[in-house]
Amino acid sequence: MCCGVKWSETPVSHCDMRPYIVCGGLSAPTETPAPLKQPLSIHSAGYARTFPRPEMTTVHAELSQAGIRATPNRVAVLTLFRDHPHEHFSADQIYRRLAANTGSLSLASVYRSLTYLLDAALITSASLGNSRVIYELNRGEPHYHLVCNRCGVVRDAYDSTLKAACQSIAVEQDFTYAAASVVIFGECSDCRQKATRSVS
Ligand SMILES: [Zn+2]
Ligand SMILES: [Zn+2]
Repeated sequence: MCCGVKWSETPVSHCDMRPYIVCGGLSAPTETPAPLKQPLSIHSAGYARTFPRPEMTTVHAELSQAGIRATPNRVAVLTLFRDHPHEHFSADQIYRRLAANTGSLSLASVYRSLTYLLDAALITSASLGNSRVIYELNRGEPHYHLVCNRCGVVRDAYDSTLKAACQSIAVEQDFTYAAASVVIFGECSDCRQKATRSVS
C-alpha cells in the first residue's frame, strides 16, 4: 500500500511513485546469456532456508553443502555477496568488481555462476523493469524494492501486509497465488536534497 492507493497488477501512477507488481513471478530476463532457472520472485522457495547456518563457516563449505563444485569463479562471486550482504548487484557490476582479480572470469561465466547460486538459493534475484535484473545474498527475508529514478539506488522494503494484499488480488481474479514481485519507483532522499541545494 502506498499513499492509500491500492496496489494493482499493472503499473499505475499516483504521487511520484509507480508501483509495479507482477503476481506469479516473472519470466527470465532477456539479456542474460543463460536463462535463469527460477522465477524472479521475492517469494521463491529459497527464502525458506534458515539463516545463519553455523555449520557453514566458509564459502567453500557452503558451496559444497549446496552440491555445487567450488570453482574459482563461483567462490569469487559468492564471496562478493558474502562480503556485501545488503548490496544489490547487476551481473555487469559483479563482473567489473571481480574481473581484475579473477583471471578466468568473463561476463558469461558470471551469469553461469549466478545461475548455480540461484538454483541453490544462496542468492536471490529481482527484475526492476527495463531489463534491469539485480542479485543479492539470500538473507532469508522476503522483501520488496524501491528504486530511485535519478541515481538508480536500490533499497529494500519490508511489509508483512503486502503479501496478503497480493494474495487477495489473485483470489479476486480467480488466480492461485504463487509469488509476487513489487518494485516502487520514486526519488531517494539524497537526490531530493541535492535538487534542493542546486535550486537554492
Ligand atoms: Zn537517488
Ligand atoms: Zn533486496
